[in-house]
Amino acid sequence: MADVDLTKRRAATDVHGAVDYSAPAITFDRVRVTYGRGKKATDALSDFNLRVAPGETVALLGPSGSGKSTALKALAGFVRPASGTVRLGGTDVTDLPPAKRGIGVVVQSYALFPHMRVRDNVAFGLKSHRVPRNDVGPRVAEALEMVGMSGYAARLPRELSGGQQQRVAIARALAIRPKVLLLDEPLAALDAQLRQAMLGELQRLRDALPDTAMLYVTHDQSEALALADRIAVMRDARLVDIDTAENLWKRPPSSFTAAFLGGANLIPCTVNRVIGTSALVTVGQSTLNAEAPQPAIGKVDWAPGSAALLCVRPHTLQIVATSERDALRANVTSNVWRGASTRLTLAVDGLPDSPIEVDVAGQAQFDSGHAVGLHFPEQAGVLIEAPEGAR
Ligand code: ADP
Ligand code: MG
Repeated sequence: MADVDLTKRRAATDVHGAVDYSAPAITFDRVRVTYGRGKKATDALSDFNLRVAPGETVALLGPSGSGKSTALKALAGFVRPASGTVRLGGTDVTDLPPAKRGIGVVVQSYALFPHMRVRDNVAFGLKSHRVPRNDVGPRVAEALEMVGMSGYAARLPRELSGGQQQRVAIARALAIRPKVLLLDEPLAALDAQLRQAMLGELQRLRDALPDTAMLYVTHDQSEALALADRIAVMRDARLVDIDTAENLWKRPPSSFTAAFLGGANLIPCTVNRVIGTSALVTVGQSTLNAEAPQPAIGKVDWAPGSAALLCVRPHTLQIVATSERDALRANVTSNVWRGASTRLTLAVDGLPDSPIEVDVAGQAQFDSGHAVGLHFPEQAGVLIEAPEGAR
């Protein structure tokens, strides 16, 4: 995976001064959503708590079926929570019909009206929001301008490409000047190249709307990293981790988040000793240095002798000569050239059940079976608690 530039990230606090969490733009308070009845009832959302500050962008990231769209629908008013409340600003909207919530919603399938021209599609929500007739034209023009579609007002949806249709759908959501914008996998239907271009446009849009809170649903970690001030990771109807993108990337609180966010190696290890945030751990027959995060809430105890996981990204590891001091001995089991880099899979001596992936620059010439040395740079890895059952 390419390195992600986290230095340019716009922190919510940079834009707005102190974030006012006393009146979040979005609040989910112990929301539970159930589909089906009786024995077939399943929780699509369980004990879901989330606050989004005014102007903040939060990504809901998780695999398919984890409850991301359900959370968004509960906020938009398309599904009714079995319990809990959703609030916009200070107002409880749990029982308010969708049209009264004043939220902009963009979905994967665009959902444009096929028989309406672009300008009428964009104007659609304005009527139910009682925007004076004389203001409709300028508001539509403003929204189309924001997404770079000013020249397309008279077209029908079928006369537009997928990317253009999605821009119109975004313009329609923006026309009501919402304080809250919900986007559910808005790029998923686009091909890879267009997705990249649209991601840049969404970043610009986010920066152009510093007062609009955004909830951005995606299963794609690169979209979440590119757009979100904070990422909420979901699994099986629950929120598992939430933090800034940078913190989740650098110090994943759980093996699930580490694997989902960054394609990380999670290598079983034993903690030897910890001094401050620095740990000595045993991996196979070797002793390595790793980062031992100290959580704000003192939950994790890196007790000497305890089992943990060492999270290491493939691009931080180095292939060296087998004779090199401190190198782990390994054999190459596969070699996949990806253009700018080659992904090697290694079987490491003493770690029979943990193949380790390493990215080396360019087109590496290592055949399967080739013996190599594996070097862990100082503090290349960060400790993660071993999941229940593995301890
Ligand atoms: P995600 O958006 O993360 O892919 P969803 O929120 O769409 O997940 O779905 C969460 C769970 O709820 C899944 O198990 C899904 O099959 C189920 N589900 C979603 N919508 C319905 C529905 N209308 N009726 C029954 N089950 C549903
Ligand atoms: Mg979904």
